[in-house]
Amino acid sequence: MKRLGCTQLGLLLACASAAVASVDEFSFAPYLDLEPTLSVSLVTVHGLSVRVEGSDTARPEKPFVFDWGDGTTTEGRFPATHSYKSADRSYTITVTATHDDGTESVTVRAALGPPDYGFQRLQSLPRRVSIPKSVVPLRTTMPGYAITEKPEAFAEDELQPNVRTAIEYVMDVAHQIELDFCNGDVTEQARGPHVILKQRQFAGCASQWYSDPPSFECHPGYLVGEVDFSSLFHELGHSMTLNSPAKYRIGGKIDSPMSGAVSEALANFFQHATIYRILNTEGHWGLSDGFCALVREAGIRSIGVVRNAHKAYLSEPDGYTMYNDPATPRDETFNTFMTVVYVFCSLAEEHRDYRTPLKRTMRLLQTFNEADEARFLDRENEGFRATLMVAAMSYGFDTDLRERFRKLHFPVSDAVYEELRGRIK
Ligand SMILES: [Zn+2]
Repeated sequence: MKRLGCTQLGLLLACASAAVASVDEFSFAPYLDLEPTLSVSLVTVHGLSVRVEGSDTARPEKPFVFDWGDGTTTEGRFPATHSYKSADRSYTITVTATHDDGTESVTVRAALGPPDYGFQRLQSLPRRVSIPKSVVPLRTTMPGYAITEKPEAFAEDELQPNVRTAIEYVMDVAHQIELDFCNGDVTEQARGPHVILKQRQFAGCASQWYSDPPSFECHPGYLVGEVDFSSLFHELGHSMTLNSPAKYRIGGKIDSPMSGAVSEALANFFQHATIYRILNTEGHWGLSDGFCALVREAGIRSIGVVRNAHKAYLSEPDGYTMYNDPATPRDETFNTFMTVVYVFCSLAEEHRDYRTPLKRTMRLLQTFNEADEARFLDRENEGFRATLMVAAMSYGFDTDLRERFRKLHFPVSDAVYEELRGRIK
């Protein structure tokens, strides 16, 4: 099946335009292939013309489909060339190969001009995320959780005004979407304003989900150049899921060497589900084609990380662990929680829906209570840790996932499964 992307609606036609008759479809499925054979090796730009080189070791019989990102799609072989009508922006080129067992896609950027951050604000959308120009005082809401030292603000001249407002807007969109994924069951502060601040000690970006207001702290270069929207949605996912359910925050209660496996899996569900929702909602929440392309590219990069981690997991016979040893610099649970994410995204792609399964998964997790916390933190209770997400996702997708995870060496406990699953009829 041909997957249509946001950029195919037409050059410079805002996604929100009334001219858009139907909802087009974006899918992560072509990027979840565990044995990718298609590669795009080179894009050269000469004025308005681009040339794309690449290869596919599977040597498919059918020609490749080149979606040039300006509303034009052609079929052919490598190298392929195309001429654009306008050089005022960048374009995302998607190359799709058709194999016997499905399609595989690769996207590349043709940088003819600056990134397009165009949007038309939906008036009904609440303003929830800002990048303040002066530092905002933060207060911790969790005993034992300190506010990082010396957060700063992204000053007036540090971010171009259109980039600042564009990030604020797309984060408002993400907040609305993620609040819905949480069934609205988050603490007051997670429901209200969030701020994005600058933090020189961080290499990337991190969520201070326990601060009031909740904050993201980013490396000074993080919002400059190519903005990684997928990881911003991930951090917001932490802020929302760790503040849920409102009456018993999961994250704060189960922080331990084991808790990352759940909170990281959830943040990864949220970032990809948010991108899927933005790109598959009619009108794309007012984001322009070019802006959608940037969001889409960021998602394709991050789903590649999920795929590669799952592949690494499959190659290690003893790969399963939900214990992140504090004595080592690496997170031993990485490939395990990414395997949970891989299964979630694969199932969501089969259902062509992330929202309903995610809302249901959250609903089961929102029954998390003090007794669960004690079992989760018990170093010996591997069965509980391995089964928590399996039970939640089984409810999420309305299917029994025990066997699927047992085949992946998760020590699933039937007793825990029945108990957790039985909480919601
Ligand atoms: Zn994270």
